[in-house]
Amino acid sequence: MTQITLALTKGRILKETLPLLKAAGIAPDEDIFSSRKLVFSTNQEGLRILILRGSDVPTYVQFGAADIGIVGKDALLEHQGDGYYEPLDLGIARCQLMTAIPVGAPPQKGRLRVATKYINIARQYYAEQGRQADLIKLYGAMELAPLLDLAHEIVDIVDTGNTLKANGLEARDMIAKISSRLIVNKAAMKTKRAEIQTIVDALAKVVATEL
Ligand code: AMP
Repeated sequence: MTQITLALTKGRILKETLPLLKAAGIAPDEDIFSSRKLVFSTNQEGLRILILRGSDVPTYVQFGAADIGIVGKDALLEHQGDGYYEPLDLGIARCQLMTAIPVGAPPQKGRLRVATKYINIARQYYAEQGRQADLIKLYGAMELAPLLDLAHEIVDIVDTGNTLKANGLEARDMIAKISSRLIVNKAAMKTKRAEIQTIVDALAKVVATEL
């Protein structure tokens, strides 16, 4: 029996992924949210689910440790890896990757300091804009950085904008529209084609009916 490993992104994306999987006929054997396990068997023999950080999902799929992954486009843009296909936009966990500044801040003259966890995306973005920027890597709570003068602006995910607003920031430029994507390891797409195609097709059908 062919073993298929599906890597899911924990947190907000997982909450929107599980109903999609369920509609496609895939359900974990136990409640993921009330368990500390990282690997779950499912109602489908030979299909198991991994629960990972979003930034790790592309890595697992790139190296074939997982055959399929569900992950935000932000993590894919930042990962800049290859070794996987991106056959399906799931249309869930939609948000925008934006720059944000303190409300009413005047344009920064001279060298810009930018705090973000998206170093690769930011490097590319500011280079395209022709702006010199010193990038400061943070792992969370980016919104704090401008308040404490660590940075002039941040690059972060914005959904409702409430988090920015609550911290005296406002969105400025949009870098990318984000949603969650299905990715498939390139080698697995050949060696496990039938099993993987069945899953991709089932999810594509659910997504098409939900649009
Ligand atoms: P909001 O206050 O609704 O703009 O949400 C912004 C915060 O929620 C950001 O700091 C993000 O870390 C997180 N967030 C919102 N939407 C997503 C998403 N689709 N994927 C990952 N993180 C998100």
